[in-house]
Amino acid sequence: MVVFDKLEIRNSLTIEDIFELLQEWGGEPEFTSFGIISTTICHNEPGEGSRKLYYYENTGLFKCYTGCDSTFDIFELLIKVFDIQKKKVFDLNDAVRYIAFKFGISASYKDEAEDQLDDWKFLNNYDRVQNIELKTNKIELKEYDKTILDRFNYLVNIRPWLNEGISQDVIDYNKIGFYPGGDQITIPHFDPDGRLVGVRGRTLGKEEAERFGKYRPLYIMGQMYNHPLGMNLYNLNNSKEYIKIMKKAIVFESEKSCLLYQSYFNFDISVACCGSSLSNYQVQQLLDLGVEEIIIAFDRQFQEPQDEEWHHLTKNLRKINDKYKNFATISFIFDKNMITGYKSSPIDEGPEKFLQLFKERTIL
Ligand SMILES: [Zn+2]
Repeated sequence: MVVFDKLEIRNSLTIEDIFELLQEWGGEPEFTSFGIISTTICHNEPGEGSRKLYYYENTGLFKCYTGCDSTFDIFELLIKVFDIQKKKVFDLNDAVRYIAFKFGISASYKDEAEDQLDDWKFLNNYDRVQNIELKTNKIELKEYDKTILDRFNYLVNIRPWLNEGISQDVIDYNKIGFYPGGDQITIPHFDPDGRLVGVRGRTLGKEEAERFGKYRPLYIMGQMYNHPLGMNLYNLNNSKEYIKIMKKAIVFESEKSCLLYQSYFNFDISVACCGSSLSNYQVQQLLDLGVEEIIIAFDRQFQEPQDEEWHHLTKNLRKINDKYKNFATISFIFDKNMITGYKSSPIDEGPEKFLQLFKERTIL
């Protein structure tokens, strides 16, 4: 018999855990002074809602200021999200169990024989509906029809990205296009075997970007091209061979950083986790390739050392280190001298600065 205490589970969740869930559910979360702001995935499809779902760290509760106009906790949010995104009816017990398994919270877990319950079993139990198939320890995401990529415009000049240093060859190679219907740059996501598992759009319109967040899954003709971001590493299809040879991988937050890396360097060992959290599965994908060092190259998401964001970031990095240091060397590119701008990826300001930061990377 497995007994979970809802409050106990809720209290063991860190704000980074909440952030990770919101990210996985397409809420495009952002840390704020009081907690987190997300799109209203409580009553909208991901990418549809406004940024009016607030999470307050002091109470551990969410408040939706539009559609729901109410306060709820992470379990109730999960129930809402699963209903909307997976057409799956979860009760409170299911929700509590799901969260407990996901984050390995087992304080009240009574059945010792099942203590081994790991991510794969957990996915097998709960994510079948999302067409995630269990193949020993490999998860195959749902594949989208590649012909969708033919609908995008590849002739349009993606000037902002070219100006930032991404080469036209790299844009072509990665099938980066433009979807006029959404005023979005289109970024296809492939799994390591080159199957199309999602398409994300980078909104260009300023108002759109503010309302929906800059990145969101593409929504075309009634089809949402989303995928659980934590279940794939962007660009691993391109970089896996070099990663195997070098036994190192660089993990950026965003797709664009991989495109910059490809534009500057020949041996591409970059991937993007598409957010600021790294999942067990993503790390496992790298370990399966024989990596000995995982280089975390997240954005400079702090204005000055010791500010609120700095504490969030370093806490997040320490958490990653603690979780995975026994499996590989975890090193961090951390721009403590602030040679790049606020919110910059280490590669945003050119190869020279990147190489400097790379050389100065630290091991905790
Ligand atoms: Zn709502």
